[in-house]
Amino acid sequence: MTSPPSLPFLPFALPDIGEEEIAEVVDTLRSGWITTGPKAMRFEKAFGEFLGDPSLHCVAVNSATAGLHLALEALGVGPGDEVITTTHTFTATAEVVRYLGADVKLVDIDSATLNIDPALVEAAITPRTKAILPVHYAGLAADMPAILTIAQRHGLKVVEDAAHALPTTCSGALVGTLTSDATVFSFYANKTITTGEGGMLVTRDAALAQRAKVMRLHGMNRDAFDRFTATVPSWYYEVVAPGFKYNLTDIAAALGLHQLAKARAFQARRDAIARMYDTALAGLPVITPPHARAGDQHAWHLYVLRLADAARVPRDAFIERLFAAGIGCSVHYIPLHLHPYWRDRYGLSAAQFPHSQRAYERMVSLPLYTRMSDADVQRVADAVRAALAP
Ligand SMILES: *Cc1c(COP(=O)(O)O)cnc(C)c1O
Repeated sequence: MTSPPSLPFLPFALPDIGEEEIAEVVDTLRSGWITTGPKAMRFEKAFGEFLGDPSLHCVAVNSATAGLHLALEALGVGPGDEVITTTHTFTATAEVVRYLGADVKLVDIDSATLNIDPALVEAAITPRTKAILPVHYAGLAADMPAILTIAQRHGLKVVEDAAHALPTTCSGALVGTLTSDATVFSFYANKTITTGEGGMLVTRDAALAQRAKVMRLHGMNRDAFDRFTATVPSWYYEVVAPGFKYNLTDIAAALGLHQLAKARAFQARRDAIARMYDTALAGLPVITPPHARAGDQHAWHLYVLRLADAARVPRDAFIERLFAAGIGCSVHYIPLHLHPYWRDRYGLSAAQFPHSQRAYERMVSLPLYTRMSDADVQRVADAVRAALAP
């Protein structure tokens, strides 16, 4: 018996870089200015225009982790403070709180949306609580109306981890334009738009933006481009704080300019793929991911499937079967309460986070990216169906 010709491995994620991005990077390389300069400034301006709100300040940084760190620093988070966030996230969301010597209060998720549960946020508030750090998991908006109401009632700051959420809407408004103190997007290689590494801090608060701009470049009150392009002698600057090295290069911003211009088309393709999966997986013993409310938009960074009770195959074996069929997949996330650092520092156990734990044990993220063809999507769905067969 001869085996059928095997298809090439379908990776879990691939960036979608076009000739426009490549030409813009080459132009940057030839320009003589490769670090933070005119293109980073153009990218910040374009980002504000994309969000469509002239009152927003956009601060380009070299990762979302950096942006979250800068936002919390500018809000004065420090030793003795607590920041509440979800256990069902990537460690970057929480680690930035520890950079500042503050403590993390992890709470469980809503089992339907996999987003942080606002009722548990409110229950976790103590006199030390300084801020709430919601994550728009997979690209579906967290319950921001409830979170912002709670924050206002208790005098807390809100910083949104929007690493998955470009473009996502919440009650009709783009994430980034809500009334929280700051919102941070990621342009990591597998995110909905990418600069390789990069991020954007967005805020309405001019003082917060100014502090973040100073702290992203060593705590200097004038950046290199500002000094380089000045028409008067401009070697002078002052260091006003021990800042960080978080600036976005023009090489990265060159990618970002063209990725941003495609963000709506990328979202439309991701949305179409998610709907194809929904249809192709209907009737199988799986829970397909929640959609945005009517009228709202899901960024579809991830398509997170959960195995239902009726599925006979354990999650780990299911993933092995998909890999054997040449399909890359992943798990988002191993909840923070299971990682040794977070578990041991805060004495956490799975029983404290039943919804996150249960979701984690049954979840798998399927490939979802704009370069997938319809045939790729069907191939994944067929492999899922085959992997679920007893
Ligand atoms: C990717 C990610 C981050 C970190 O983004 P970087 O740009 O890689 O620093 C933060 N939070 C979440 C939820 C993420 O998925």
